Amino acid sequence: SRDAHSARHPDIFGTDMQHELAPMIEERLESLRALIGDTRLMVIRCRYQGRELTVCAKYEVQNFTGSIKDRMALHIMEDAYAHGAVEPGDTIVEATSGNTGIAFSAVGRALGHDVRIYMPDWMSRERVMVIQSLGAEIVPVTAEEGGFLGSIARAEAYAEEHEHVFAPRQFETQSNIDAHRLTTGPEIRRQLEAAGIEACAFVAGVGTGGTVMGVHAYARERMHGMRVHPLEPANSPTLRTGHRVGKHRIQGISDEFIPAIVDLDMLDDIVDVWDGDAILMAQQLASKFGLGVGISAGANFLGAVKLAYEAGEGSAVATIFCDSNKKYLSTDLCREEPAKDEYLTPDVELLGCRVIPGPGLPWRSGL
Ligand code: PMP
Repeated sequence: SRDAHSARHPDIFGTDMQHELAPMIEERLESLRALIGDTRLMVIRCRYQGRELTVCAKYEVQNFTGSIKDRMALHIMEDAYAHGAVEPGDTIVEATSGNTGIAFSAVGRALGHDVRIYMPDWMSRERVMVIQSLGAEIVPVTAEEGGFLGSIARAEAYAEEHEHVFAPRQFETQSNIDAHRLTTGPEIRRQLEAAGIEACAFVAGVGTGGTVMGVHAYARERMHGMRVHPLEPANSPTLRTGHRVGKHRIQGISDEFIPAIVDLDMLDDIVDVWDGDAILMAQQLASKFGLGVGISAGANFLGAVKLAYEAGEGSAVATIFCDSNKKYLSTDLCREEPAKDEYLTPDVELLGCRVIPGPGLPWRSGL
């Protein structure tokens, strides 16, 4: 495929090469830019073990398909068009188990592409149906065929064997990091400034690691002093071990390997959160504030509470509410979850929530 070709010969499709875009594509990209990013910041006050703390969370539910992955899908397509790695009529081929598939399906179809998604065959029926309803084709991959890693291998094989294919490769591409360096990071800085809050740290669960690496890259340039921590499930410490260790229920983070774009040496300490604790926290955010967020949002909130507590009374930490509860209706998120001694949620008291609007368009200046 052209993209595989460009990966092998980066000098031919070098990053400084800007292609003239068809006006129709530019117009469609412009519409997508108006639908993606510029999300609100939820400033949540809480008390944990006697300390009053603030968690500032980007409300990514507002995006086009309702998750943070829309930022990545759009930016990868923008970069690919700018560098001639994709052309109208190409089929987008990606391996994913969730939000990335939904994001590429919607963004891909909006740009006029066919979309082919490889995913493990045990994913929930809702996920499959959402992707199919967006006009994409799903290729199910069984556990015997390698499950998640098998999906990546099969997507790669398809891209190698066919012409007119664009393979985004979310776990490897710098465009994934750049999506957050150019949008998520600058938005957080502006919104914290507008709220008059200084956050000592940012924390985010690692799926591809695009969010945490991109915010880190921006923070290093423009938010000196803000630490950036990756987060993973305590039940399945892939980042600490380099491979899949156990099972966990925080969908969207901690797959079976450390993604190529993640450089742990650049980041601050790994934060661990139990999946049951994340579920309890997401339930509490929904029932106290009406914030119907997903399980990884509960995990991120707890990671922020942990870091803010360590930093001391009155501290603030920024994080992400990656998606809504809608894709988890048939999961433990909507069942009664037993509390355990090591959980934080039973000691977290939610005090209040105020909303900081998005900083506005154009938000891609990178400033
Ligand atoms: N939470 C959810 C629900 C996700 O779908 C993802 C993306 N896989 C993440 C968190 C992690 O984001 P990233 O891929 O940028 O690390």
